[in-house]
Amino acid sequence: MATTNKPSNATVDTDLPQPIRGNDGATILAARNVPLERENPDLLAPPYTDAGTIPNLKFSFSAARNRLLSGGWAREVTERELPVATEIAGVNMRLKPGGIRELHWHKEAEWAYMLAGRARLTAVDQAGRNFIDDVGVGDLWNFPAGIPHSIQGLAEGCEFLLVFDNGSFSENETFLITDWFKHTPPEILAQNFGVPQAAFANIPMDGEHDRYIFDEPVPGPLTTDAVQSPAGVVPQTFTHRMLAQTPTKVAGGQVRITDSNNFPAASTIAAALVEVEPGGLREMHWHPNTDEWQYYIGGSGRMSVFASSGKSRTFDYQGGDVGYVPFAMGHYVQNTGDEPLVFLEMFRSNHFADISLNQWMALTPPGLVQSHLNLDQQTMAALRKDKPIIV
Ligand code: MN
Ligand code: MN
Repeated sequence: MATTNKPSNATVDTDLPQPIRGNDGATILAARNVPLERENPDLLAPPYTDAGTIPNLKFSFSAARNRLLSGGWAREVTERELPVATEIAGVNMRLKPGGIRELHWHKEAEWAYMLAGRARLTAVDQAGRNFIDDVGVGDLWNFPAGIPHSIQGLAEGCEFLLVFDNGSFSENETFLITDWFKHTPPEILAQNFGVPQAAFANIPMDGEHDRYIFDEPVPGPLTTDAVQSPAGVVPQTFTHRMLAQTPTKVAGGQVRITDSNNFPAASTIAAALVEVEPGGLREMHWHPNTDEWQYYIGGSGRMSVFASSGKSRTFDYQGGDVGYVPFAMGHYVQNTGDEPLVFLEMFRSNHFADISLNQWMALTPPGLVQSHLNLDQQTMAALRKDKPIIV
C-alpha cells in the first residue's frame, strides 16, 4: 500500500480519507487515527457550508468508560463526557440472564428503551402501591424521580438505554439498598426492622459500590414474583410498548412519538423513534421547547446543526453514538448508509414538539417568503402545508 506522505494533492492515496475538498486542504503528513477519521468524514473534510465555533455534539458509548460486574456492565454518557449535554444523561447497560441491577433510587426520573433481550422490572411508589412487569425489545419504562426500582435480566439477558432528565446524573452515584444497610449501625437496623442485630450479620460489606449489578438465577414466570399490596398497584403503568404504536409513515421512513400524551408516567421525558430509509432525510427542523439528546440505534447518518450567526457544523453518527442539539438550533439528519438509520430523539419535556422549515414557509404569505429567498414559482409550489418529517 502506498504511503500517504506525499507532498502533492495530485498523488493522494485514494484508499485513505484525506482532509481535502476540491482545491482546499492537503494530505496528512504526520500521525493520524485512520479508523476515527473514517468514522468522522465530515470533521476531517467539512462541507463548505460549515463555519464558526460550535461545541462538540457527539460522543460514542464506545469511547465511554465501562464498569464490568458479575451480572453485566454499564457505561454512561453525561455532561462530563459531552459537556454541552446539560439536560439529559444516558446509560447503556447489559444484564446477563438473571443479572440484577440492584434495588435503588435516584434524584432524576429514569426513562428507558429496551434494545435487546428481556427484563423484569419492579417498583414501589410513595403510597405503597407496587409495580412489576416484563419488558422486551422496543418497550419503554419510566420511573419518576425518587421512586425505588430494580431491573433483572430474563432468560436471554438484555441490553438497554437509560435516559435521565439531568445531564449531571451519574449511574455510579445512585442510592443503593446495600450501601445504606452497610452505612447504618446494626442497632439502628435492629430497631428499624424489629429484629435482633444478628439478622444483619451477612449483609454484603465488600465491593466498590456494593452489589450494583450482580449475578443471580433467572427468575420464574411473572406471576411467581407477584407481591400483593394492600394499597394496590401504581395508578399509571411505568411501562409502555413503543414499538407496538402504529408509526406515522411518511415518504422517507416512519416515526413513533411517545410523551405524556400516550405514556402519562413519562412526565419529564418525551421521545421520538425515527427510522430513515436509505437516501432519506429527517427534514430541516428545530424544537421550540428544549435541547435534543439523540441515541443512534443502527445505520449511519450525518447531522448538520445551524447555530445562528453564520455558524454550522456537521457530525457523523452510527449505532451506539450519542448526538446533541442545543435548544432551538436548526438541524437535519441524513441517512448516509445503505440500511435504515434508526435513532431516538429525546427531550426533557412532557411533550414532543418540532417546527418544520418547509411547513413554516408553506403557511406564510408566499410573496413574503419569496422576497427573502428569491425562489421561483416551481419551488414555492413544492412547499408542504403538512409536516414532511422525513423526505
Ligand atoms: Mn435507576
Ligand atoms: Mn430534531
